[in-house]
Amino acid sequence: MKLSPNTPITVLNGIGEVRAKAFEKLGIVTLSDLIQHYPRAYQNRANIHPVAGFDPDGACSYLLTVATEPRVHLIRRGMSILRFRAFDESGTCEVSYFNQNFLKDTFHVGMEFRFFGRMVQDKYVKKLASPLFEPYVEGISLPDLVPVYPLAAGLSQKLISRAVKEALSLVETPEDYLPGDIRLKNKLPTLRYAWENIHFPADEEALKRSVHRLAFNEFFTYALSLLRAKGERAASGAPYMGEIDLSAYLDSLPYELTYDQLCAINDVVLDMCGEGEPAPDGTVAPMSRILIGDVGSGKTACAAAAAVLAAQNGYQCALMAPTEILAAQHYHSLAPTFASLGYSAALLSGSMTAKEKKAVRDGLASGEISFVVGTHALLENKVTFARLGLVITDEQHRFGVMQRAALAEKSAHTHVLVMSATPIPRTLSLVLHGDLDISRIEQMPPGRMPIDTFVVGESYRVRLNGFMEKQIAEGHQVYVVCPAVEGKEETDPENMANYTPFGRETFASPLPMKAAVEYAERLKQALPHRRIEFIHGRIKGAEKDRIMQAFAAGEIDILVSTTVIEVGVNVPNATLMVIENAERFGLSQLHQLRGRVGRGNAKSYCVLVSDANGEAALSRLNIMKETNDGYKIAEHDLQLRGPGDFLPTGDGAIRQHGGVTFRLADRLGDTALFEAAVEDARALIAADPGLAACPALRAHLGAMQEANLNTIN
Ligand code: ADP
Ligand code: MG
Repeated sequence: MKLSPNTPITVLNGIGEVRAKAFEKLGIVTLSDLIQHYPRAYQNRANIHPVAGFDPDGACSYLLTVATEPRVHLIRRGMSILRFRAFDESGTCEVSYFNQNFLKDTFHVGMEFRFFGRMVQDKYVKKLASPLFEPYVEGISLPDLVPVYPLAAGLSQKLISRAVKEALSLVETPEDYLPGDIRLKNKLPTLRYAWENIHFPADEEALKRSVHRLAFNEFFTYALSLLRAKGERAASGAPYMGEIDLSAYLDSLPYELTYDQLCAINDVVLDMCGEGEPAPDGTVAPMSRILIGDVGSGKTACAAAAAVLAAQNGYQCALMAPTEILAAQHYHSLAPTFASLGYSAALLSGSMTAKEKKAVRDGLASGEISFVVGTHALLENKVTFARLGLVITDEQHRFGVMQRAALAEKSAHTHVLVMSATPIPRTLSLVLHGDLDISRIEQMPPGRMPIDTFVVGESYRVRLNGFMEKQIAEGHQVYVVCPAVEGKEETDPENMANYTPFGRETFASPLPMKAAVEYAERLKQALPHRRIEFIHGRIKGAEKDRIMQAFAAGEIDILVSTTVIEVGVNVPNATLMVIENAERFGLSQLHQLRGRVGRGNAKSYCVLVSDANGEAALSRLNIMKETNDGYKIAEHDLQLRGPGDFLPTGDGAIRQHGGVTFRLADRLGDTALFEAAVEDARALIAADPGLAACPALRAHLGAMQEANLNTIN
């Protein structure tokens, strides 16, 4: 009898308590988890190199016959080396293994093996140290593409791949929840085929087809869960806001709104007063709208219009920002407007005293305060509203699953407006915002000075330091961004020479923590008289806020950071953005970062520092020189790197909205497939909103939702 996918992995050979714990670190508990632990790359062992034509730069395969019996040499206590010679028709080499004496029973004269490793020429002898090996038997072919899995301590590639193989043989094939006609129409293989071939591909084509199939599932189920959520939300009513007079608000603005801003406000107004008459209970279908506009395009003015509309109709509005700093910024820019219109506004911030917080909560509970700005602390149960009518969130992708769920609860009967500064290609926003109506601001307010962008190499370092100095001397401030600090470098021979068939490049050596810290130190030495602060992910909330506040107040000249500043901080006095190892960032990310400067009246600059010499990397960076248009950049990113950069990522929790985790989206080369997935999901929901005809799919979505609830509670 076959096993259910929910069986714990301890049924597998050689996996007891200890190893199960190690697997758990990778989020793997059941057979199904294990099967969904997809390889992150594949070693291509198909190309057998002759010894004479060995590749000194990378690991590759050699087909060798053992020439001498292995001999073990003790180097010193606790350290031994096993050595033998092996050959092919082109030459001979020496194969060695450290501290693996037991291998002497594996290799014997005359036996053939496929070795995989990096060969070096040492004086007269070619050496192959600790290569991977597979016995080669005439007539039995070895796999060409060998999976390389993400590892955790206590696990090896061999162990994982053996476990996956066994799991695949034991597990029952679940009923394919993808409706057959949709599968066939998109020429997708079966689930079983995809499972087997994503781990142990028969060939490149099989691998590609499998990735497509599984990625299609991800997009399809994601789209379906959003569409169903939208359907549910539409069924609940939100307040009818029929009192519409925005003229006083519009007159209070010191500028003319752009056409796109006016259109967005128009969309919002129409949503909030509903189509036609309100229902007898005075409600209309709730607004669920996202306002997408590049950094600086003026989304706040549109959102404020919605807040004014709510206040005018006697309802409260809550605006949530992802950080305290952003919340404070919104509050300080919007409160005067509200005050001038006769509505009271308040900020609810973690750094306020208990007494201050209580006063705000009381004002919200009594309805005295019309407009409140804060972080997700606004969602706490302690905070109650007399007449909450509108919830606005800024940069929503920064909110985690838990906050989103709490938000959904708090705003069940309110209008919802979301602001996003990530210019997302149209096709993708259909996927990501399937539960929202979309308004786009594609036009920038007039009179913006374009930011000049340069791509330079390490040889410009001295000049670059001089340029920073010049900006500061002129009274301006500088941002320096280093790539996110990641784990230690992988030097495991098993992870060398990985072959990633599609999608984004993987970077072998993330900039280690030390380098970023050292960098800040070097900069301090180069510019000793300047005030330089370093901020990174391990610096916690209050301290981080303190540094950001100090920078905003002009008390710091240069802020060196990892990408924590990405979210819309506004420091108009900053005129120079330097991005180190720029090739490691997605273009859209670079664009977001660049948007931190050019917010004031002074000419601003962005310098991308990169020593990448690859043609592709450089031409990618040059796109940044050519355009300031976030949408164009986003389209390029999508073409070059796949959709991964736009999907909710960051921490694991955000990845799984609606229980869906995008594991394979990064590897999806073409956009046609996910467009098809969304189209098919839409058509299916339109024809059969309850999914009555697709019981397997209904069950699958239900299970996903349940899993999601479990992660929240
Ligand atoms: P974002 O879309 O990034 O949130 P903001 O709403 O913060 O952008 O607007 C950026 C700046 O542009 C603000 O200083 C705002 O006052 C200004 N602004 C907004 N709309 C216009 C406009 N139509 N004309 C001129 N300036 C504008
Ligand atoms: Mg903003």
